[in-house]
Amino acid sequence: MEKMKKLYEGKAKIIYATRDKDTVIQYFKDDATAFNGKKKDTIEGKGIYNAAISSKLFLLLEEKGIPTHFIKLLSPREMLVKKIQILPIEVVARNVAAGSLAKRLGVDEGLVLKKPVLEYYYKDDALGDPMVNEFHIDAMGWATKKQLESLKGSALKINNILQKFFLKKKIELVDFKLEFGLYKGKVILGDEISPDTCRFWDLNTREKMDKDRFRRDLGGIVDAYQEVMKRVVGAKC
Ligand code: UDP
Repeated sequence: MEKMKKLYEGKAKIIYATRDKDTVIQYFKDDATAFNGKKKDTIEGKGIYNAAISSKLFLLLEEKGIPTHFIKLLSPREMLVKKIQILPIEVVARNVAAGSLAKRLGVDEGLVLKKPVLEYYYKDDALGDPMVNEFHIDAMGWATKKQLESLKGSALKINNILQKFFLKKKIELVDFKLEFGLYKGKVILGDEISPDTCRFWDLNTREKMDKDRFRRDLGGIVDAYQEVMKRVVGAKC
């Protein structure tokens, strides 16, 4: 599948058009940013690990009946995906308190939540992606009530599937971010699911195996991403 015009370049990925109007190529870069772009660096090979991990997880979700934008991996950094009209909402699912939730509620990182929690953030870099609720989404018309119900149901199902999957890989799925979009009138899962967008802790040691190693200057970033890939895909690049 030929890469045509660059349609969009984000912090960690580039979207290219293809000859087919319904599909685009999602290219995974090695660039990493945190704190709304204030911290920047390159993590060698990250794009390859994230593309491999995301592909495996999208396939797993498809098998379990969750519609996603994934079609196939074209090369180690390039994923052929359905062209979706992305909803301007980031959905965060949490099983364990960490990051902004731990800070906001004044609880220790690592507190296991009694039930999964979903949060919504309005995708706007200039505003720093503010947290919003279902009323804001409805009032601003970012998604219809029906689309929101579909997205909510999918996010909870995805959490359930991924939590079980990662448990088998001896990884605790702490929290993660999802993005959904419209494809032929239906809400489907887009973006990526990787150590850039999830918090993964080793089940036994609770050692961080995700982007927090970059955000918090913990070192060992490449090793952590490689280890997640090894456990998820069963191979090392
Ligand atoms: N997350 C993300 N992109 C964002 C914000 C959050 O992928 O722009 C992910 C993050 O990696 C974590 C989860 O969403 O797995 C929850 O993040 P949190 O709200 O705790 O914010 P953070 O501490 O990452 O700023």
